[in-house]
Amino acid sequence: MVTGSRREMLGAMGAGMMLASTRSSSAVRPGGKIGYAIVGLGYYATRQIMPNFTGCDHARIVALVSGTPAKLEQYGTEYGIPRTHRYSYADFDRIRDNPDIDAVYIVLPNSMHAEYSIRAAQAGKHVMCEKPMATSVKECEAMIAACRKAGKKLMIGYRSRFEPYNRLAIELARGGHVGPTRMITAEHGFPIKPDQWRLDRPLSGGGSMMDIGIYSLNATRYLTGEEPVEVSAIESTDRSDPRFKTVEDRISFLLRFPSGIVANCISSYSSGHNRYRIAGTQGWIEMEPATSYTGQTMMIRRDNATTPRTVPVPTKNQFAGQLDHLAECILRDETPIVAGEEGLADLRVIEAIYKSAAERTSIRINA
Ligand code: NAD
Repeated sequence: MVTGSRREMLGAMGAGMMLASTRSSSAVRPGGKIGYAIVGLGYYATRQIMPNFTGCDHARIVALVSGTPAKLEQYGTEYGIPRTHRYSYADFDRIRDNPDIDAVYIVLPNSMHAEYSIRAAQAGKHVMCEKPMATSVKECEAMIAACRKAGKKLMIGYRSRFEPYNRLAIELARGGHVGPTRMITAEHGFPIKPDQWRLDRPLSGGGSMMDIGIYSLNATRYLTGEEPVEVSAIESTDRSDPRFKTVEDRISFLLRFPSGIVANCISSYSSGHNRYRIAGTQGWIEMEPATSYTGQTMMIRRDNATTPRTVPVPTKNQFAGQLDHLAECILRDETPIVAGEEGLADLRVIEAIYKSAAERTSIRINA
């Protein structure tokens, strides 16, 4: 019953033991931990990411970057960050001179991801960047090139890849637990509140698709291990709704993968969704919620029976797992499982989705 998760736990233990025996420059740092600068002190950074450093074995917060002095004071005090390690956006490039900072975590509005990731790489720092990686393929390519040139790691904040139910779903789906996958349905959405940067195209780069629909898309890619070759999308947006003056509300999109798998996906800013279902020739695997911060549940239909599947609560949650993964990749000079190329692959499909919806025709991708 817990074979998958036990294997994952053993894998993680093995990685930890390897790390302990790896000589690296960070061995001289306090606790041998990689130091992160958090860039942008908004909701996700302060409520989800920063509190979860306590669960990390290889990562710690060493610096903060914000445009609001009161936030630097509040969180600087709370996390014991000295004034010398607190930066404004104007000061950002001075992180170059701070040897305690190994990596930055960009948690800014989407259209700022590329600029700050590139500046961080140029300052000699590794980069963790939130999803969506950027607002265009061109920006993603520039970020990858900048990090490569600087010899620095680039990882995208796809936290579900460190969440045990999603990891199990990948293993079961790709391993044919319910037969070869034929169809995937993936739905993500929430009714968005007005008056925020997510609804301002110059800052967000797009509407629900960039923000929450990307979870549907990314799930179809990690559950299949394939890249879609064709997309067909329909958008529906009430432009008289003050929230949707510059960005889209709902997009429904179909993806076809090289093996023939078809995925039927939903992205919405006006209805609540968080689920996916993998339908194979001999049953299905369903997750709801699928990609939330906590509370994932999995049901499996196989051999004429529908049963819940549980995974033991991990010692490290998805946030700490994600932060430690980049740290381990830095320490061991390895490539993150969700490197910049992963974010680029999503943006490539998102651009095709927007094109398909605008032109009302199906679009071939990577052709
Ligand atoms: P937020 O609005 O709460 O925080 C954004 C921060 O950026 C704020 O501190 C704000 O002051 C700062 N900022 C700097 N310049 C700004 C400008 N010109 N306009 C607006 N804000 C500016 O947003 P958030 O929810 O924390 O999202 C930040 C990033 O994190 C986004 O890219 C989002 O997609 C991502 N995110 C990821 C997850 C996840 O589960 N992986 C969850 C939430 C958000």
